[in-house]
Amino acid sequence: MSSELNIHVGAYVEITAEPIYEIEKVLMCTMHRDVKTGVYCPKCGSKLQLVPVTEVRQPSLYTLLPEDEYTDRLSEAEVSDDLDVVYAVGNWNGDETKLEISRYVATLNEITPDMPARFIAAFNAEYADVLAVLRERATSVEMKFGVLTWWS
Ligand SMILES: [Zn+2]
Repeated sequence: MSSELNIHVGAYVEITAEPIYEIEKVLMCTMHRDVKTGVYCPKCGSKLQLVPVTEVRQPSLYTLLPEDEYTDRLSEAEVSDDLDVVYAVGNWNGDETKLEISRYVATLNEITPDMPARFIAAFNAEYADVLAVLRERATSVEMKFGVLTWWS
């Protein structure tokens, strides 16, 4: 259940990766594939059978980086339902890769023209090892600067 709105202003990474194809066996009528409950199909009387069905899932930061050493470095920003794109932001706080945005007190953050390039450079430096691993596993890894909001 979604309850907290995350707001990120700063560098983020757009990862394009192959969707995950999984073959699952689903009990259904081989003629009427929408019939998935019971023992016999009410439309044709055939016994339901286990049929292999290909399910397509969106990759996640976790499926791309399952190793413990990477789990606390980046967080996934769930801003897209595209089946081949994952967005991630950095968790490091002592940095200049993102602005601190409070949802509880008034704040003012000026965005200066140098920020996008500077924040992306800091992100690249801080997460060079993680980004190198992602580049091996993903189709493309692109650094960007922007505003992301998502529920978690
Ligand atoms: Zn049937």
